[in-house]
Amino acid sequence: MAKKKTSVRNRLHAEPGVVNLDGYDTAATTGSAGTKAEAQAELTKSTGPKLAALQERLYAAAAGTGDQRRVLLVLQGMDTSGKGGVIEHVVGQLGPAGVTVTSFKKPTAQELAHHFLWRIRRGLPAAGQVGVFDRSHYEDVLVVRVHGGIDDAEAERRFDEINAFEAGLATEGTTVIKCFLHISFAEQRNRLLARLEDPTKHWKFREGDITERGLWPDYGKAYAQVLARTSTDAAPWYVVPADQKWYRNWAISHLLLETLTDLDPQFPATDFDVPGLVARLQPPH
Ligand code: AMP
Ligand code: MG
Repeated sequence: MAKKKTSVRNRLHAEPGVVNLDGYDTAATTGSAGTKAEAQAELTKSTGPKLAALQERLYAAAAGTGDQRRVLLVLQGMDTSGKGGVIEHVVGQLGPAGVTVTSFKKPTAQELAHHFLWRIRRGLPAAGQVGVFDRSHYEDVLVVRVHGGIDDAEAERRFDEINAFEAGLATEGTTVIKCFLHISFAEQRNRLLARLEDPTKHWKFREGDITERGLWPDYGKAYAQVLARTSTDAAPWYVVPADQKWYRNWAISHLLLETLTDLDPQFPATDFDVPGLVARLQPPH
C-alpha cells in the first residue's frame, strides 16, 4: 500500500498490537486544515465529485474489461457514532448504481443457523462496486463477546478466522477499509438525548441502547482487542475521531479518495469506428 506520510490513511491507521483507545482524542480533526464550513464545502464540491468519477471508472472497468477490483468500507462504532451519517453524506456522493449498502442487525434465526461469516459473504460487493457494511462480522467479536456469547479462546479463534477471510478478499481484488467511528461517552449521551427530544428521531432509539451504553468500558476493551488483532496489511483499521460529524465525514471521504486514487481504475479501451457509427445514426425524417 503506497501511503504518503501525511495521508489520512497514514494518520488514522491503527497499528496492530499497540492500540490504546484511551489515548485517542475523539474530538480531534487530524489532518484537516480547514474549518467546519470549508470541510463541508470540500466534500460536496471537490472530494464528492472526485469520488463519483473514480467510482464510475471502477464500475466501467469491471463491466468493460472484467477488472475484478472492488472496495469494501466497513463501518463500526457504538450507537450514535455516525454510521448512518457517513452513508448519507459520504457514500451519498457516489452514484447509486455503483454502491451496495448492507446493514447487519441482530441475526435472524436463519442467520444464526449458519457460520457467522455466512451472511457477510452474501453482502460482499461485486467487481466494480463500492460495498458498505453498516456493522459487520465484527459484531460477532464485539456485542457477542461483551454479552458473554463467546469466551476469550473463541474470540482469538475468530480473530484468526477473520484475518484469513479478509486476506482472501484482498487476494480476490477487494480493498478493505475498516473504520472505527470513535465517539466519547459524553458525546453519545448528547446524541441519545437529542434522539429522545426529537420525535422524528425516535425510530432510531431503542431502550436497549441505554443498556449497551452501561457496558461502555467492556465495549472499549473489546474494540481495543479487535483493533490490535485484526488491523492487518490486507485489511487495515482506521480509528476515526467522530465527536465532530463534519470531521468524521471529511476523514472517511479522504480514506475513500486515497484508496480509489491508488486503484486508478481506467475506462475500458474501445476500437469503435466512431465516424462510421455516427454516419449510421440516421437522423429523424
Ligand atoms: P442498529 O445498527 O442501531 O440498527 O442496531 C443493530 C443492532 O444489531 C445493534 O444493537 C447490534 O449490536 C446488533 N447486532 C448486529 N450484529 C449482531 C450480531 N452478530 N449478534 C448480536 N447482535 C448483533
Ligand atoms: Mg441503534
